[in-house]
Amino acid sequence: MLTDDAHLETRAVHGGMSNLGGAHVPPIDFSTTFPLPDIDGGGDSYENLATGHPLEDGASAVYQRLWQPGVARFEESLADLEYADAAVAFSTGMAALSAVLIAAVRAGAGHVVALRPLYGGTDHVLESGFLGTSVTWCDAHEVAGAISSDTGLVILESPANPTLQLVDIADVVRQAGRVPVLVDNTFASPVLQQPLRHGATLVLHSATKLIGGHGDVMGGVVAGPEAWMIRLRQVRALTGGLLHPFAAYLLHRGLRTLPIRVRAQQQSAALVAARLESHPAVRAVFYPGLPGHDPDGLIGRQLAGPGSILALDLGDFAAARAFTEACRLVTHAVSLGGVDSLVQHPASLTHRPVAAEARPDAGIVRLSIGLEHVDDLLSDLTRALGTRVARSGTAILANGRGGQ
Ligand SMILES: *Cc1c(COP(=O)(O)O)cnc(C)c1O
Repeated sequence: MLTDDAHLETRAVHGGMSNLGGAHVPPIDFSTTFPLPDIDGGGDSYENLATGHPLEDGASAVYQRLWQPGVARFEESLADLEYADAAVAFSTGMAALSAVLIAAVRAGAGHVVALRPLYGGTDHVLESGFLGTSVTWCDAHEVAGAISSDTGLVILESPANPTLQLVDIADVVRQAGRVPVLVDNTFASPVLQQPLRHGATLVLHSATKLIGGHGDVMGGVVAGPEAWMIRLRQVRALTGGLLHPFAAYLLHRGLRTLPIRVRAQQQSAALVAARLESHPAVRAVFYPGLPGHDPDGLIGRQLAGPGSILALDLGDFAAARAFTEACRLVTHAVSLGGVDSLVQHPASLTHRPVAAEARPDAGIVRLSIGLEHVDDLLSDLTRALGTRVARSGTAILANGRGGQ
């Protein structure tokens, strides 16, 4: 049994493990429908669940779109790690964000104050007003002035995608006053940062990334106060952006190894960042753990460590292209947070829909560091950087292929 004072690692391993029906690991229940005791009992439970309330003890779950035991276990564990009342899981991170935006619009507060940079998809859905929201973009010190009477949400990401800027959550919360602040915590994971402890109302994850951790499952989750969770469960029940039971199983299992993966990947990322900062082909490294990259001193106060994602400025698009295409051990692919390292070019891919003035520079590439041995990663990355130098014809013969 988990005690209240158990440490993060212990809670990650044992969270959400109640009601296993005598098994040692969570069983996977694929039922789409659940037997009803009688018409009245079924009807009461339907009414309760469809309005976003949790399943009552002994009641029928009625239908998988209303409640699912494996999803509930994942939510319980994630909420515990984020110091939240509860959590609501969705099919993807974007489905989770969409549910929050729909809930804000339905409450008559569809104006969003958002801090750039954000994930490209988040930027796109806000900038396009696709779900009926309007947006004011601002910097971290301009939040108070950007809020109006119909502002329903302040949205920020820290560390931010793709260039790892840190935002002082408590300061934004102070400026936001009565307006709830949502923090996209995908890059930090609850291992390194728990935004609710700094005053945020809602925390969101693309569970596809670090939480799943193996590049084989998509999911999203929002955690926060029960009043918000009721609204989000209702949106989920009505719009159907469900997490599949097998996805819930994989994400719940992912939480059990999350602390150890995040720390091991972070350790390699810090070494890669430090080594590449002095590489002649690298104009700049973006990584919160490097000296001078955390001007507000948030590491230690808000963020337990700089994480496993970094970005490189290679100067121009040609260099970024040559580098990403030359990486071999590191796979050229979008997404992040898995056990294998990935590289991608945000301006062309994840941040393609972002308005030109806010899009990452064309020379920037983003790296997600995995669990390979750091020496193997460094030799692949430095070889790929050497290829760039050779191809652009400025210096050395890198690997026997360059020079033309
Ligand atoms: C990937 C990502 C999302 C979107 O999540 P999906 O699971 O792809 O829908 C949102 N925020 C951040 C920071 C991300 O990296």
